[in-house]
Parts: sequence; structure tokens; C-alpha cells
Amino acid sequence: MITIKSEHEIELMRKAGEIVGNTHKYLKQYIKPGITTKELNDLAEDFILKSGATPSFKNLYGFPGTICISINEEIVHGIPSMRKLKNGDIVKLDIGACYQGYHGDSAWSYPVGNVSSEISRLLEQTEQALYQGLSAVHAGAHVGDIGYAVEQYAKKCHLGVVKELVGHGIGTKVHEDPDVPNFGKQGTGPVLKEGMTIAVEPMLNLGTAEVYMLDDDWTIVTGDDKASAHFEHTILVTKDGYEILTKR
Ligand code: MG
Ligand code: MG
Repeated sequence: MITIKSEHEIELMRKAGEIVGNTHKYLKQYIKPGITTKELNDLAEDFILKSGATPSFKNLYGFPGTICISINEEIVHGIPSMRKLKNGDIVKLDIGACYQGYHGDSAWSYPVGNVSSEISRLLEQTEQALYQGLSAVHAGAHVGDIGYAVEQYAKKCHLGVVKELVGHGIGTKVHEDPDVPNFGKQGTGPVLKEGMTIAVEPMLNLGTAEVYMLDDDWTIVTGDDKASAHFEHTILVTKDGYEILTKR
């Protein structure tokens, strides 16, 4: 069931989104070679708790971390560990926070130290793919319009579009209806209405679109071990467009 949020619920989602955005802003300064992903995870947990929220992903479906941290060929759901970031890595932080029962969800990809021109291009174009997807959002548009916009842009950039993982509705649960794929046909799928809140989150790969899961049963990686990027905002559908709830 796709829910429409009341003005009061939207206020709580703005607050949850603001906390997620602030957590990203706070963690960004620590993204340097030598820091472990566990240290980033713990900084995120402290920050979210001090902001009056709880981490949405901790124990979600049994996830063992507070946030998901995925490096290089890891696309999503990386488990924080003693692994250290290295110069030239691309690191993805996927952060969720729950404020008074409402969730915000935003993933962002960051360069570690100096990255190759190939990684820089992947970062720029995947962020751009997010905005291309968002530009299709307004009351009366279809969910398929978002996926179409992302996919067409990714194709132009010769990037692989991950199909096994999709965006989603969000509210009192992190994952609500509808699914918001990063591919699709215009004019298909559920119609967007004012007051819906969804997470749009392209995951694009330098190489193949194929993915597989590591033996930890969580981390999803690219089929050819080439790098992947992930950019996500939680947004509110408005009459003429959208409002980003997880802005920095
Ligand atoms: Mg996320
Ligand atoms: Mg999400």
C-alpha cells in the first residue's frame, strides 16, 4: 500500500531527513585514508543518537552495523569492520535515521584521498543520474518515468545500471511501497501523488550491471569487481516537483 503523508507526518520526515543529511555532513570530514569503517560507523551512531533519533538500519532485517559502508566494487550493504580506507578508494555511506517513528534514508559516495579520473567520472555521473531521476518527479508522473530518466542517462554515460536493488517508498517503515527501480518505461508503474515520500537511489557501475552477494550474506558486489557508486535522497512528491528531505 502506498501511503500519503499528512502535514504533521511530513514535518517529522523533514526532521528525520535533516538528521540524516547532518550525519553525512559530519562524517565527511573523517573520510580519509587510514580510518576504519567501524570508526565511521560508531561516529554515525553517536551523532544520530545525540540528534534525538535512532539509526534505522541497526538490526533492520538483522543487519549488524549502524550504517552500511561499501567500498569500491561493493555496491551496498557493506558491514562496518576493521578495514581501513585507502587512498584512491570510493566509499559509500548509506545512512538511515528514525525520528519519532519516521525514517530518512540517504546514501552518498565519497572519494578517499586522490581518486582516478575514472572514479571521478563515476561519482559525477551517478550523482547526476540521481538528479535526472528526480527531475521526472511531480504529482501525476509515474514511477516508471523516474527509472526511465535514470536509465537513459546511465546508458549515455556507458555505466551499468544495477537492477536487483531499487528505491522505495519510506515513512514509518524504511521500506514501503512502491518499488522505485532505476530502469523502466515512461508512463508505467504507480502514479505519484502529492504527499508521497520515496527514496530515489541510482546504483551505477563502471562495468557490468551484474551483481552477486558475498559470503557474509549482506554485501552486494559488482560481477566484474569494477567500482560502483550510489547516490540517494529521500524526497517528498509535490504538486509541481519534489522537495529533498535529506539535504545537507
Ligand atoms: Mg539508503
Ligand atoms: Mg534506500
